[in-house]
Amino acid sequence: MTTPMTHPGRAAVRGPAADERGRAALRALGLDDGADLTGEAMDVVSPLTGSPIGRVPRLGPDDVDRAVQRARTAQRRWARAPMRERSRVLLALHDLVWRLRDPLLDLVQWESGKARAHAFEELADTAMTARYYARTGARHLAARRRGGAVPGLTGVVVHRRPLGVVGIISPWNYPLTLAASDAVAALMAGNAVVLKPDSDTPFTALAVHRLLTRAGADPDLFQVVTGPGSALGAPLIDAVDAVMFTGSTATGSAVASRAGARLIPVSAELGGKNPLIVRADAPVGRTVRGTVKACFSNSGQLCISIERIYVHRGAWDRFIPALVRAAESLRVGADMGWGADMGPLISAEHLAKVHAHVADAVAGGATVLTGGRALPEVGPTAYAPTLLTGVAEGMEVFAAETFGPVASLYRVSDDEEAVRLANASPYGLNAAVWTADRRAGVELAGRIRVGTVNINEGYAAAWGSTAAPMGGMGASGLGRRHGPEGIVKYTQSQTIAVQRLMPLQAPPGVGEARWATAMAAWLRLARRLPGLDR
Ligand code: NAD
Repeated sequence: MTTPMTHPGRAAVRGPAADERGRAALRALGLDDGADLTGEAMDVVSPLTGSPIGRVPRLGPDDVDRAVQRARTAQRRWARAPMRERSRVLLALHDLVWRLRDPLLDLVQWESGKARAHAFEELADTAMTARYYARTGARHLAARRRGGAVPGLTGVVVHRRPLGVVGIISPWNYPLTLAASDAVAALMAGNAVVLKPDSDTPFTALAVHRLLTRAGADPDLFQVVTGPGSALGAPLIDAVDAVMFTGSTATGSAVASRAGARLIPVSAELGGKNPLIVRADAPVGRTVRGTVKACFSNSGQLCISIERIYVHRGAWDRFIPALVRAAESLRVGADMGWGADMGPLISAEHLAKVHAHVADAVAGGATVLTGGRALPEVGPTAYAPTLLTGVAEGMEVFAAETFGPVASLYRVSDDEEAVRLANASPYGLNAAVWTADRRAGVELAGRIRVGTVNINEGYAAAWGSTAAPMGGMGASGLGRRHGPEGIVKYTQSQTIAVQRLMPLQAPPGVGEARWATAMAAWLRLARRLPGLDR
């Protein structure tokens, strides 16, 4: 007889026990629950347990202005700090993330409802981004010599200058890494940051403030303003020198317009309706495991998760039953331990939106292969991993982002049809290709109009490659995070050109006509000098 093994890490932590861990996490991270707040406040409720987490101030436009002014003062000092000092703060942040790993995991789960494995991805991403920019920031931003107007006579150096105060507006779905990772790039480039997190997840953002302060940053250098986006978004955009927005395409477009009116740079990471292509030669087991992760990580509340699956005719009969079985074996749980594969959705409103997409598809004739229902026995906002077929144009789920654990399956004849359908979307964020033929996969990837393509992976290969840019084409955004692009965007260039020996004009005694003839002769010669333009 065998005795069933219980893995200690797998012990369930639910309900009051999870609330207790959440409260302990607040204390361990140096946060209080806001019970003593006197002014206007917002209540934050845990989607994991349904219990109150605490209250945060409902700030107004004047508070935003004051925060930006304080940030400006701190930024002037910070911009003079040597790169190694900035790097030291980022590496200290990296170390704190791991030292405070348990309370951070608890808080992220408590506030967002996500499974522990997905909370862990946030910690890993935050630490990797901090390490990457700490180590590479100086190189990406180093002053660079360029070819001058007249070689030997004009010395040109391009410098990167910080923008000033960067306003970051972040969503609820990755409350830790989307609060911290863009901020570390902006800080490394010599800026201050004022962050407005989503009202559902402000405590995680406040934890980032505590971590950065403990890491050695001036408390005013990175500040958090809490309050509704509809009230704080405009004053923030109107006060800062650049905006980094992550959220829906509709809000991103409004944010970009407002920033455009002030001619300040804006970077926007927006929604997606991301396609995954299964070629006929794709190995079923690995493809199924990867597809399940790609569709259902963070309960599908992930901008780069997959919502459209195009399966080659030759793979359909093997792939679909295996995918359905894998989706059905996922453990959906409101569990602060490691036992759940998927947590509840962020809120009742979001659950209603996700289910409306499914109900609309079913009413139009789509088939639910698995899921398609809420799981009140797990929690009030839990929803089953859902796979649909028979989805057609005109149904909401066909083109609009669901942002939940719902994916639609389409049978395609070949790569041509798969690419045509994958590209038939205004979005262009992420895509995945599964194939045994890596060369064919890379060729196919180049034809999909998206910012990142993962081959034999759903999203994590590109997302986790912090040295490479990440972001959307079309309605999925403007600008990129990660890589050199993700830090250079927080600077503006300044060209300093030094003219030596003789000016770039006709010297005394040489007429303009003779000067023009000499210049034209020189430029004709320059055309034949290959090493001239660097
Ligand atoms: P949302 O646009 O409703 O909210 C995002 C943020 O904008 C929140 O902080 C919110 O308070 C704020 N906001 C709301 N109204 C505002 C206004 N008028 N002015 C300024 N700010 C305002 O998005 P959401 O529903 O919370 O987040 C989910 C969306 O985010 C999805 O579309 C998802 O794809 C997208 N997302 C994209 C990425 C990416 O990297 N591309 C990452 C995560 C999420």
